[in-house]
Amino acid sequence: MGRVTFHDPETSPRRAARAEAERRATAAITLPETRMDADEAPSRRDLRSRTSAPGIPRLAAIPLLVRRRIAVAALALVVVASGAVAIGAAVASGQTPTAEPQAAAAIAGPPAVPAEGLPVPVIAEAPAPKSPCDDPAFTSALASGDDGATIAAIGGGEAFRSAVASGIAPCVSLADATRQWVVVNKQRPYDPANYRPNDLVMPNGVRALEDSALRQRAADALSKLVQAAEDAGAGEIGYLSAFRSYETQQKTYAARVSVGGVAEADKESARAGFSEHQSGLAVDIVPCSRSCGTLDDVGGSTQGAWVRDHAWEYGFITRYVDGRIDVTGYEPEPWHLRYIGPELAKAYHDGGYTTLEEFFGLPAAPTY
Ligand SMILES: [Zn+2]
Repeated sequence: MGRVTFHDPETSPRRAARAEAERRATAAITLPETRMDADEAPSRRDLRSRTSAPGIPRLAAIPLLVRRRIAVAALALVVVASGAVAIGAAVASGQTPTAEPQAAAAIAGPPAVPAEGLPVPVIAEAPAPKSPCDDPAFTSALASGDDGATIAAIGGGEAFRSAVASGIAPCVSLADATRQWVVVNKQRPYDPANYRPNDLVMPNGVRALEDSALRQRAADALSKLVQAAEDAGAGEIGYLSAFRSYETQQKTYAARVSVGGVAEADKESARAGFSEHQSGLAVDIVPCSRSCGTLDDVGGSTQGAWVRDHAWEYGFITRYVDGRIDVTGYEPEPWHLRYIGPELAKAYHDGGYTTLEEFFGLPAAPTY
């Protein structure tokens, strides 16, 4: 910014003396002596002697404007000097200078770590879940082939389900077709594919529309269920089809395909090697009075209503319920009962499960 000068028509000797004093005072303060030419620059002593000379006013007599300029110049020096000191200190300490002490504290990071280090929290190691497979009582019951005793050894149906679903019971195989907890679906075929149970019997006191047997325990349970329904006034329950061999299932499935094609057949009938009927643990019931109705009559019958509420008490579940085709791959079949034993059926009922896959924590199996 350029200096603004005013032309003063009333220039007087007094005004000229004031200007000279101002010039000298400003020069003395703003120009370091070391940078002045020794021959030309007056020393402080010279300045003092000259300002003390007659005709030159003393400092106390310097007009207010001049004193203000001196003060401003001095303040500028102080600010510059203190800034230099601050920058020097900051560089020496490896930090960038900051104007605000609070800001400096805010970015200073965590408090210093004590010389002995931070205390390390001691976390008690959670005990690994105890596997029933490490329990001799459980493994011996499992090896005996007695499903009910095996489930009792672990503490009941829910304890068994929980252990299997959580993966802590690898000695239990849901693929073992000889056990009542076997899970067969479109992703879980029999191994071997033509598996056939060896304890098939015709249930006592139950009207069979086909010469179709069940495994011993399932047959006994069906006899009790049918009797209980009759005692409760729900009417007579007969059955159409129970065990179907691999070969029989081939014919059953082929017949469905011939009627409606593969896509429709797969919603209602299993391919050979994938049917629960091959396990000897599944049965298709029908309502009967003097004669028996069809599978399609079960849903609207008193027998069907009773079975929905009470089949679990005898170890059966309705395997394919309404609205779960996303998991099972099958349209609802209120006539298709699957025996899983009274212990597991109670856990299934109490837990509100609607698919065996979810009961045991298995993936959905809507398709092959
Ligand atoms: Zn069926």
